[in-house]
Amino acid sequence: STPAAIASGLARGTRNGLLIKGGAALETLGKIQTAAFDKTGTLTVGNPQVTDVVGLEDANEMIAKAAAVEQGSSHPLGLAIIAEAERLGLEIPRAFGGSIATPGKGVMSRLKSGFVTVGSPIQAREQGEMPEDLSARILALENEGKTVVVVSEGKRILGVIALRDEPRADAVEGLKKLHGLGIKTVMLTGDNARTATAIASKLGIEAKAELLPDAKLAAISAYKAEGPIAMIGDGINDAPALATASVGIAMGGGTDVALETAEVALLKNRVTGVAELVSLSRATLSNIW
Ligand code: ADP
Ligand code: MG
Repeated sequence: STPAAIASGLARGTRNGLLIKGGAALETLGKIQTAAFDKTGTLTVGNPQVTDVVGLEDANEMIAKAAAVEQGSSHPLGLAIIAEAERLGLEIPRAFGGSIATPGKGVMSRLKSGFVTVGSPIQAREQGEMPEDLSARILALENEGKTVVVVSEGKRILGVIALRDEPRADAVEGLKKLHGLGIKTVMLTGDNARTATAIASKLGIEAKAELLPDAKLAAISAYKAEGPIAMIGDGINDAPALATASVGIAMGGGTDVALETAEVALLKNRVTGVAELVSLSRATLSNIW
């Protein structure tokens, strides 16, 4: 019978690390036409490493100041910059009055030396002039698939830090499986277009980049108007996107947070789990009818 088929489908998912909160989510999964992925922590491991440092003045002083600003941030880029400052044994200056984060753009704090911003090159170019050779350097780093952040003090650019985040080992396979099931895939990211394209072309997915949080939601709504869409995110800072999609899937890592924010969680962080969810749903639905 119907409830029995659904119950057995849910149980089968759980045994494979695919936590599905209820029958409605299980049914929707089989009907999705689009799978939209967050980049950082979803298609990538989410543990970026600093690869290049371009200091216009003192590079270590710039890293220390950037780390000071990132102290209040839980963003993967911030954690990586703090880790780099610690690895170099730098003394991290004190930030006064905490930090102000602007999602999708960057973060700012007041240090003894002045207001320091760590943020996207797009944001830095909006704030003021950027030297031509630095701009060229940023483009080259981004074309290598690195994410670049600009460190500024007041209007003065101190330099840039490039970071690389590795794709998940099963990302290519996971996307191929979805394509095999006839599902369109897209990566939605706030990162710049060159970095996003470099990563996306390696993975075999279309990329929509430079999306501020509201633009991510608008993109999901636009796909949803065409047919059911799943959003796959990290479940922590992607809650609105997960909620806007027809079904939200969190890369869970086995945490409780994931299941609170999404209807579905991939406990083992497997990208291939998304296609398995679709297949499980389709098998369950065909048992009903
Ligand atoms: P994603 O879509 O990969 O999750 P976000 O929307 O979080 O990216 O961020 C987009 C861009 O904004 C980053 O690539 C970075 O340039 C900048 N940014 C956001 N938060 C921070 C931060 N805490 N420190 C430095 N840069 C940041
Ligand atoms: Mg994010």
